[in-house]
Amino acid sequence: MSAPQTTESLELWGVRKEFGAFTAVESLDLTVPEGSFFALLGPSGCGKTTTLRMVAGLEQPTSGTISIGGRDVTGTAAFRRPVNTVFQSYALFPHMTVLDNVTFGLRRKRVPDARAKARAGLETVQLGHLADRRPNQLSGGQQQRVALARALVNSPSVLLLDEPLGALDLALRREMQLELKRIQAEAGITFVHVTHDQEEAMTMADTVAVMNEGRVEQMGPPAELYELPSTAFVANFLGRSNLVTGTVLDTGEVLGVDVAGTRLQVPAGRVSTGVSGVALRQAQDPPVETGAVVQLGVRPEKVRILLNGGEPTPGSNVLGPGKVTDVSFTGVSTQYQVDLGDLGLHDVFAQNSSGAPTVRVGDAVRLAWDVDRTFGLAGEPAGSGQ
Ligand code: ATP
Repeated sequence: MSAPQTTESLELWGVRKEFGAFTAVESLDLTVPEGSFFALLGPSGCGKTTTLRMVAGLEQPTSGTISIGGRDVTGTAAFRRPVNTVFQSYALFPHMTVLDNVTFGLRRKRVPDARAKARAGLETVQLGHLADRRPNQLSGGQQQRVALARALVNSPSVLLLDEPLGALDLALRREMQLELKRIQAEAGITFVHVTHDQEEAMTMADTVAVMNEGRVEQMGPPAELYELPSTAFVANFLGRSNLVTGTVLDTGEVLGVDVAGTRLQVPAGRVSTGVSGVALRQAQDPPVETGAVVQLGVRPEKVRILLNGGEPTPGSNVLGPGKVTDVSFTGVSTQYQVDLGDLGLHDVFAQNSSGAPTVRVGDAVRLAWDVDRTFGLAGEPAGSGQ
């Protein structure tokens, strides 16, 4: 870009939004480091857009403080905040060329060299060659890039993106995810991206905050949220999880847990006792005691199927026997559904990527997975969030 980009951190302290008697966002604390790609992820209605609109200044928080670059902007008018928003609807002017669309805002602000800056912005999103076209002569992905260029040329410190890829088909969406990531890395400004698509958030963001019913359930790097979810909601929202409920038999570095008469294990450091709000896994988390009811979880791709008395490797948790009830070959992997009826578990999933299926529906199997790949949830009632 020709204009030097500045980047700033974004902080929300105790930000709350009520619409009449309804609380859309509950006392949110968020820190988005400068220059990072941050995703707000959650199901429809959880408060993502409301949060973004409060940052943009389009909605006033009921209480709390919003700071950008360490400056309190809570009472600052939207147009004075160093932010720009890209919405799902691109809102381009249909009668103007692509270049004029990008130049328009700069001219209104009497920015010198507006046209040259707009051209540079179009180059950033790789649309320089389409500068003279009109929006209706562009694909959805190209229109989205124009909207992005229009926001970027304003040199915002923080760019807000509200489901910007929502209207695109899957292939284009995937392409634009990588494109957005490239543009963010190149421009170096802070991106806050709202989406309900877990794969999209995990693909693009350095940090993901998972929201549910107006609260952040967990915040962290994508791999951490996936490997060590703090709540059943996060475990299930970020892909599929197998969750079983048991009672702690013994404690120590590794917890022993009774699950329907079978002893399973989980490293104590992989058990979350977070209860509410930002459920961070911290050393000062209260310890889990003998007799406590916990949930143990494992991702399907970590589960191995043992056929015909096959032996688990040392350090494995084992459940079974059970019966395979479904085998689905997707090309990339095969997914198995197993009924462990004797344990009261009817839908346990295993998934592997080692070619065509070798196990058939009706086969009697046991399931094994590494103790070290098991995670535990101790801070919430069993069955919540499912
Ligand atoms: P989506 O992914 O569907 O856009 P979201 O997570 O962005 O959902 P929000 O748009 O922030 O959710 O809405 C959160 C809740 O606040 C919803 O229940 C919504 O109905 C409610 N809400 C949003 N705006 C208003 C408003 N102006 N008046 C009353 N309720 C509102």
